[in-house]
Amino acid sequence: MKRWEEIKNNIQSFNQNEIEEIEIVAKFVNRIVDRRKELGLSQRDLAEMVGIKQAAIARFERAGVVPRMDTFLKIIKPLGLLVELTENKRIASPEKVENTMKDYLVRTIERDCPICNRIHSLEERSRITQAVVKGEVVEYEEKYYLCSDTDEDENEFVPAGLMDENLQKARNAYRLRKSLQLDE
Ligand SMILES: [Zn+2]
Repeated sequence: MKRWEEIKNNIQSFNQNEIEEIEIVAKFVNRIVDRRKELGLSQRDLAEMVGIKQAAIARFERAGVVPRMDTFLKIIKPLGLLVELTENKRIASPEKVENTMKDYLVRTIERDCPICNRIHSLEERSRITQAVVKGEVVEYEEKYYLCSDTDEDENEFVPAGLMDENLQKARNAYRLRKSLQLDE
C-alpha cells in the first residue's frame, strides 16, 4: 500500500490534524486489507459476511472512505480484529514534565496536621496559581501542605505563616506586572 504514502507526500497543504487523520485511516485500511488477504477472503466474501455492498468495501480499501463506526466495527469483526486506544507516549510525556514544574514537591516535613489533628509527615508543595490583586489576575507561586493520610476531599492546607508568604508573592507579582518597584 504505497498509495497513502504518496498522497501524504504529494499534498503538503494538509494541516497536522488532517495528516494524522490520513495516517490513521491508512493504518486501518492497510491492516484490514492485509488481514482480509491473509484469511483468503475476497472483497465480495467480506461484504457478504458483513451484510454490506462490495462497493463499500472497495471504496474504503481504495480511497480510504471511512464508513460509519457501526459499519466499520461490523467489517473488522469477521476479520478477528478489534479497535484499541493506546496512550500516546509522545504526547503524554511533555505534559507530565510540565505538570511537575507547575506543582512540585519542595520537601517532606514532620509537623502538626490540622486535618488529622496530629503530627505526621506532610508534603510541602509549590504550584503556580492565580489570584486577584486590586482587580487584576496575577500568577504567582503558592506553597501549601499536602496530607496524604486522609480520605477527605480537602487534603491540603496553608498555615498562617505560609499564607503571608503566598500573599506577599501575589503582591510582588502584581507589582512586577505594574512595573513598580518591588521595595516600594
Ligand atoms: Zn494529615
